[in-house]
Amino acid sequence: MATIAFIGLGNMGGPMAHNLAAAGHRVQAYDLSAEALAHAVSEGCVQAASAAGAVKDAEFVISMLPAGRHVEGLYVSGPEPLLELIAPSALIIDCSTIEADVAKRVCAIAAERGRDFIDAPVSGGVGGAQAGTLSFMVGASAAQFERAKPILDVMGKNIFHAGDHGAGQIAKACNNMMLAILMAGTCEALNMGVKNGLDPAVLSEIMQQSSGGNWALNVYNPWPGVMETAPASKGYQGGFQTNLMFKDLGLAMDLSQQSAAPVPMGSAARALFSLHKAQGNGGLDFSSLLNLYRDSE
Ligand code: NAD
Repeated sequence: MATIAFIGLGNMGGPMAHNLAAAGHRVQAYDLSAEALAHAVSEGCVQAASAAGAVKDAEFVISMLPAGRHVEGLYVSGPEPLLELIAPSALIIDCSTIEADVAKRVCAIAAERGRDFIDAPVSGGVGGAQAGTLSFMVGASAAQFERAKPILDVMGKNIFHAGDHGAGQIAKACNNMMLAILMAGTCEALNMGVKNGLDPAVLSEIMQQSSGGNWALNVYNPWPGVMETAPASKGYQGGFQTNLMFKDLGLAMDLSQQSAAPVPMGSAARALFSLHKAQGNGGLDFSSLLNLYRDSE
């Protein structure tokens, strides 16, 4: 069993750290939020007084933070840069969703200082984090990937080696841009059908069995009442917040800008989600985009 530092115990990091502790690892946990930290301790983690304390004697350091600036601050540019304090033999696994170029930059600085840093963002949401069924998209060397895999296996079901450093973040941006496009298209088609007299459940069934079938329609139907388990049937609570989809689409736009990859569909999806967020729906599940299309009652 390994000694693992876990930093960032929010909606995702909390249950991920819990799964590692439940598997018998020593999880030295830290979060700026005393509440999140206390919860992790009640779930089997060992409380650290600071991030520096958490990484002491750790063989693996896992971070699950909101954005690139938090990751860069924690490891490189903050008041107590962790890179200096982490044992050179440890493997640093950043699971946050951040800019690919920030991941590459932190990795390069880590390498200069003799530290191994890899990117391993996830898909699967809070439910996947709790169930230990996340998908990990890993940017690392082959040797680093092999070393990380047994630890990631505890928290996830599908562990992909996307490529070299930064590739995990690129895969994540591509996936979530695709998801946003699929959700917008699904909302658009369902609304048009209903406005023309179709029952949303019947139309959903037809499209699922036809060439319009896709993940947003098949397992995450945005129309309330069609799929009991979907956030749409629970007032768009839980699930994946519009705010997070907006953030991820920003990362995808950055990537398209840097590489001159044309993304007209992704840009349209970003415009839709930004409007939806501006109208006060940031905290709702992203499938609530449907309300942008529906006639107000
Ligand atoms: P969250 O806001 O619930 O948790 C982030 C935690 O990090 C907070 O508890 C915060 O206090 C802590 N934190 C911030 N800076 C810190 C620092 N310097 N030191 C210690 N703790 C610090 O966010 P989340 O939903 O858990 O998301 C985390 C990451 O996972 C994000 O990058 C997000 O894009 C990604 N993600 C989220 C989901 C989801 O459904 N929530 C799904 C896939 C990926």
